[in-house]
Amino acid sequence: MPATDFRQDEALQHWQPRHLVGGELLAAGAPFGVTDPSSGKVFAECPEAGVEELERAVAAARAAWPAWKARSLEQRRAVLHDFAAVLEQAAPLIAPLLSREQGKPLPQAEVELKVSAIHIRHLSSLPLADQTLRADDRGAVVLNWRPLGVVGGIAPWNFPVALAMHKVAQALYTGNTLVLKPSPYTPLATLAVAELAQGIFPPGVLNILAGGNAFGAGMTAHPGIDKISFTGSVATGKQVMQSASASLKRITLELGGNDAAIVLDDADIEAAAAGLARSAFYNCGQICMAVKRIYAHHAVHDELAARIAEKAQALKVGSAFEEGVEMGPVQNRMQYEKVLSLVDDARSQPGAMVLAGGAALDRPGYFIAPTVITGLDDSARLVAEEQFGPVIPIISVPDEDDAIVRANAGTLGLGGSVWGRDGARCAAVARRLDCGTAWINRHGVNESDVPFGGMKESGYGREHGVMGLHSYMEMQAINAVPPSG
Ligand code: NAD
Repeated sequence: MPATDFRQDEALQHWQPRHLVGGELLAAGAPFGVTDPSSGKVFAECPEAGVEELERAVAAARAAWPAWKARSLEQRRAVLHDFAAVLEQAAPLIAPLLSREQGKPLPQAEVELKVSAIHIRHLSSLPLADQTLRADDRGAVVLNWRPLGVVGGIAPWNFPVALAMHKVAQALYTGNTLVLKPSPYTPLATLAVAELAQGIFPPGVLNILAGGNAFGAGMTAHPGIDKISFTGSVATGKQVMQSASASLKRITLELGGNDAAIVLDDADIEAAAAGLARSAFYNCGQICMAVKRIYAHHAVHDELAARIAEKAQALKVGSAFEEGVEMGPVQNRMQYEKVLSLVDDARSQPGAMVLAGGAALDRPGYFIAPTVITGLDDSARLVAEEQFGPVIPIISVPDEDDAIVRANAGTLGLGGSVWGRDGARCAAVARRLDCGTAWINRHGVNESDVPFGGMKESGYGREHGVMGLHSYMEMQAINAVPPSG
């Protein structure tokens, strides 16, 4: 990749995004436009991979698998660590490209790339070994964890590189090969990373192709792909599950959330307001595990809401390269319109009060002011649905039992949090939440060694941690008779 400044339009004339297939960089496929959400205008073109490229990528991944899985765990770890080092070094170079296509402020784009490198390193350092289930007079049983074969990774547009790199680390460390597809809204930074990968992985081990939704559907139906690791919306996740059933592919689905936070009457209100505002507005609220509704005890509701509103109003909103910007635009027009329609619906509810924001910014692009709304009941769409944008409803509740019932209502169950000073009381509430992760006095932390995923329609299976690595593997029980005599 040329050492170029992707902030400048001219730079994009000197850089051709290409797919990585079987160790080669290809610009195959008709170009499609990539939009800068800060202007709403197409700023670059990207080739769209089709059926032919998918066939080529799957064949290359299959061909590369035997030699890759034959390498030791330590050898595969060493290659992934080399990749992490190169990615970390290239972060300042690729960050402007990620900012332009995704909309996030430049420092946050650089953080995403650097944290991706850290996750690759940590995930590929987790311990993986066969397990002896028993060795006694009934015999010896060993659980032999083996790679699955070719994995298909499908990523969304909110953290395009980080979410894709989680799949790279987990799939390759466990001895699989990978065909990876970024979102068509944000393909460019991932293709820039593909160029780095070309020099590091043996041909075919990692294939990265920019394709549209039909390309993703082609992956889920492909008989040469053994597992799909999908991160995206619930609606698409259901299609993935259905399509993967034809060949009984293994699947992991990381889907949407409508995370509730419960703020107890003894919470540290300033700490809760700071933590919840950060979770609600970071990345413009476009985080699967962001807090999306807050249930606050009536004794602390008004103070908490006022403090979160203050923080929302203080946030500097703007385009990625403006000095000091803390929050960018919503990533695409469809999402922008959806978030605004949820805000309009909320404003029209009897009793609704807008404490901050409440509208789009009067400028080009998909900017929405950080918004705080109180006085809604649970039937308002903003409370009942996943907003995936910079808007947070805060609801007053009489007690924690009521809060738990409301938090557990609905079909989603990704994350949740409890805020209070009494650790035992918080833990008791956390255990009653129907969600894959229940945080205490924080919300939305992502760690390589902690299994992550959703209950109910927020997902299927877990990624991260040894449990996540095992989801990229098949377990074989080796069952031996006891030695005679
Ligand atoms: P999306 O489902 O529209 O798209 C995700 C990916 O799926 C894209 O690459 C897209 O091209 C592909 N795709 C679309 N149709 C497909 C099909 N029929 N078969 C296979 N692939 C197909 O989701 P999005 O709008 O990009 O992402 C936002 C959603 O992702 C939100 O709901 C968010 O909560 C969720 N998300 C979840 C997690 C998690 O870890 N649980 C993380 C980030 C985002």
